[in-house]
Amino acid sequence: MSALASPLPSAVPCGPEIRHERGQRAVFCGLTGIVWLHRKIQDAFFLVVGSRTCAHLIQSAAGVMIFAEPRFATAIIEERDLAGLADAHEELDRVVRRLLERRPDIKLLFLVGSCPSEVIKLDLGRAATRLSESFMPDVRVLSYSGSGIETTFTQGEDACLAALVPDLPRNADESLLVVGALADVVEDQFSRLFADLGIANVRFLPGRRAADRAPIGSNTRYLLAQPFLTDTARALEDRGATRIPAPFPLGAEGTTLWLAAAARAFGISPARVVAVTEAGRARAARALQAHRAALSGRRVFFFPDSQLEVPLARFLSREMGAALIEVGTPYLHRGHLAEDLALLPDGTLVTEGQSLDDQLDRCRAARPDLTVCGLGLANPLEAEDLATKWSIELLFTPIQGYEQAGDLAGLFTRPLARRARLEG
Ligand code: SF4
Repeated sequence: MSALASPLPSAVPCGPEIRHERGQRAVFCGLTGIVWLHRKIQDAFFLVVGSRTCAHLIQSAAGVMIFAEPRFATAIIEERDLAGLADAHEELDRVVRRLLERRPDIKLLFLVGSCPSEVIKLDLGRAATRLSESFMPDVRVLSYSGSGIETTFTQGEDACLAALVPDLPRNADESLLVVGALADVVEDQFSRLFADLGIANVRFLPGRRAADRAPIGSNTRYLLAQPFLTDTARALEDRGATRIPAPFPLGAEGTTLWLAAAARAFGISPARVVAVTEAGRARAARALQAHRAALSGRRVFFFPDSQLEVPLARFLSREMGAALIEVGTPYLHRGHLAEDLALLPDGTLVTEGQSLDDQLDRCRAARPDLTVCGLGLANPLEAEDLATKWSIELLFTPIQGYEQAGDLAGLFTRPLARRARLEG
């Protein structure tokens, strides 16, 4: 693998073919992010200000998890006219007050906006400021939108992290900030690798607790761990931080290139990167080997959903030998994804946006071996004898880093094995 010999990718002259589509979309809204964010920030609470539909979505998306003390809820705002808005604010204050009295463990409260018209009329930013003034220093109250009009699926995390940035303290010290919610186990592994590389002062956004607020300033370099954090990146740059360009840490090669980019930014030699990553690369290579035969030559079609599609496609084609029919993504940030795009095979069709019917026609015509898509499309496609992988699972499962590379490949081989069993 090229990453073993040199952590630097070679320049690719042609690159993928990028097309845009507009039309009907089939994606979850940004409220879905609460399902993984509430597990990450352990003393935060997410109060969705929404309708019964929003409450149902959150309940069914998180339905598999049962908590004695849940860390998300929905304040249901019924239809009301503009004259009733003052009451709605009072009602919201009452709900928040009751919640915080009952739950002194909450240190950070997010008011999460949604798309029903009665919620759009409420100024949640103003409500958050007003409530923060009443409850500081015990509880900070922030707001962001998870509305289906403004956000898709993973953009809820982007909006949440962007809301945290203005609240971070200033500091001019040299530091590395890893940005994007990662499972704790993955964060711990990366912390050890950065320490072994010799990078001191490494922090993560979001932190595990509300009080864990990474200081940032003009000597902060940040490394994105997730590809859907456009607004967060902009907010960090407004505070003087500089992005380290890198592919995303999916698979052995992606992880090596990601770590190597950080090392380069801190003046650490490629030889040290090779030495520090050697054991992890070897373990990942063994784990991936077990899945390669099942994925090699398989034709994969990505519907746009999580914004993880481009780095996943890069991993499947370069490390597992899969063939890419189409890589759909709801949004394509050419800057943040430049390194991953450069590693896709020449001529790969990357589609930004969605025209659902046209894309379904292309998928049906191509008859892929594996289709990566949202929950809503999976059942109909399975009924047409197409093996599918729910893209939401790629957010709920730890997949970044060397130790998770085998699990990542396993997420793609499992539906193929299931279909093979069904076909006898
Ligand atoms: Fe539906 Fe909008 Fe609520 Fe999401 S925010 S569940 S799209 S009503």
